[in-house]
Amino acid sequence: MDAEEFDVIVVGGGPAGSTLSALVTMRGARVLLLEKEVFPRYQIGESLLPSTVHGVCRMIGVSDELAKAGFPVKRGGTFRWGARPEPWTFSFAVSPRVASPTSFAYQVERAKFDKILLDNAIRLGVDVRQGCTVQDVLDDGERVHGVKYVDSDGREHLASARFVVDASGNTSRLHTKAGGRREYSEYFRSLALFGYFENGKRLPEPVSGNILSVAFDSGWFWYIPLSRTLTSVGAVVHRNMAEKVQGDPEQALMALIKECPLISEYLENATRVTEGKYGQLRVRKDYSYHNTRFWKPGMILIGDAACFVDPVFSSGVHLATYSALLAARSINSIMAGTVSEQAALSEFEARYRREYGVFYEFLMSFYQMNRDEDSYFWAAKQVTNSEHATEFEAFVELVAGVSSGESALTEAGALVEQLRARSAELEGAIDKIADGTPSGSSSMLRSTIVKQAMQEGSQVQMRALLGKDAAQEAPLFPGGLVPSLDGLHWEPSAQP
Ligand code: FAD
Repeated sequence: MDAEEFDVIVVGGGPAGSTLSALVTMRGARVLLLEKEVFPRYQIGESLLPSTVHGVCRMIGVSDELAKAGFPVKRGGTFRWGARPEPWTFSFAVSPRVASPTSFAYQVERAKFDKILLDNAIRLGVDVRQGCTVQDVLDDGERVHGVKYVDSDGREHLASARFVVDASGNTSRLHTKAGGRREYSEYFRSLALFGYFENGKRLPEPVSGNILSVAFDSGWFWYIPLSRTLTSVGAVVHRNMAEKVQGDPEQALMALIKECPLISEYLENATRVTEGKYGQLRVRKDYSYHNTRFWKPGMILIGDAACFVDPVFSSGVHLATYSALLAARSINSIMAGTVSEQAALSEFEARYRREYGVFYEFLMSFYQMNRDEDSYFWAAKQVTNSEHATEFEAFVELVAGVSSGESALTEAGALVEQLRARSAELEGAIDKIADGTPSGSSSMLRSTIVKQAMQEGSQVQMRALLGKDAAQEAPLFPGGLVPSLDGLHWEPSAQP
């Protein structure tokens, strides 16, 4: 069977897969995305962070569409948590890094959000094939070079590419092909039971769109407003309750709600949705893990395929889209011939593990219920190693997903976006010239050296336009790479 050829094959069309596909297609790669479901499809993970909304979603060009979709605006979080009996609230606006007008995120119905991202990838030119399940990767012993998949009619296909990206989520079977193993957290071994309610109470304005997280004796509840009337409600409890929860989920959820006075009050006049995609009570367990390897030559793991940790700070979609950005930079740089595969993917893995580690370590402190919020803020400052921020700001930066200090994830990236649009115009013009010339010069214009020169040219142009603000970011690790000004590549650090 002949294999179709691509530059990149992405397995899975969730936020990780659609983001990565968009970011490498924008730099000219030919991308095939294979998704086993047909969208819209249900997924949990409804509370987003500002880093996703104002960072990655801006880069892939879906900000306006998200703003028009009518998702509730999340300005921060409200917690009944720790030693203090009264609820406390934080606002993203507290951090200078997420200052107004980007100090908010959205609460999203994932079926709608994920479809916006996947449709955007299609618009950008990604070859998206839904109803197609990847069964295995093709590996010649040295590198992964393609996949075997089955389409919705049950026909088998082969496709080859320089990179296969596993973005197939927590149910991924492919992750083992990167040569590592999935290690489950000994510390976070909880289980989640969740469903949907109509007409639950709302927090008062201006924080009615906040996530409400409420600890109680058996665990904690999330309470996420998804529209004016629809609320996602989930209980995270100890794994030893598995039998009870799975035996009779309905009875178990009602008993847990009864045990938690604040959630009982919020649901007093609410009715559980029992029909349609929100009608079912769902259970998830074994969701806190990381893979021992995030890549091998030719294969990269991103999003839940690589790692996830407890949902209390809604970090899942942030980790999925941020890891997609890091991996896309690596692929773009390797394909342009500016950075070696080893250096680019080591930078990807180091930054991704750092971000995951920050949430993991902080959550270990956050689960110590005998402490008050000041001690959680102190822990956030220790974990993030933040020098510029107060303890409270360090906490807000961590839970907004911007503690890495990457300008691509914050409002600072907005200016760069305008400049990138200008340089894209320039490249578009060059592509048009290339299309209109004899094939020899066309392939010359598309060659690695020309791509590299164009990439460097657009960076120089951006630096010139940005003037004194165009300083390179400091490397996150000694001797490491830094993001290019347009955020789409890696480049060597100018620092010694
Ligand atoms: P997914 O969204 O799982 O997408 C993977 C895609 O791959 C799917 O569409 C799937 O159909 C497809 N696929 C799978 N196998 C194959 C195959 N073999 N071939 C082709 N396609 C395939 N995150 C938040 O940000 N906020 C929250 O509030 C939040 N709450 C959570 C609550 C719970 C209880 C849990 C368990 C998680 C929560 N998360 C939350 C995490 C969030 O659900 C995930 O981190 C996020 O969906 C990961 O995105 P992804 O793109 O990596 O994977």
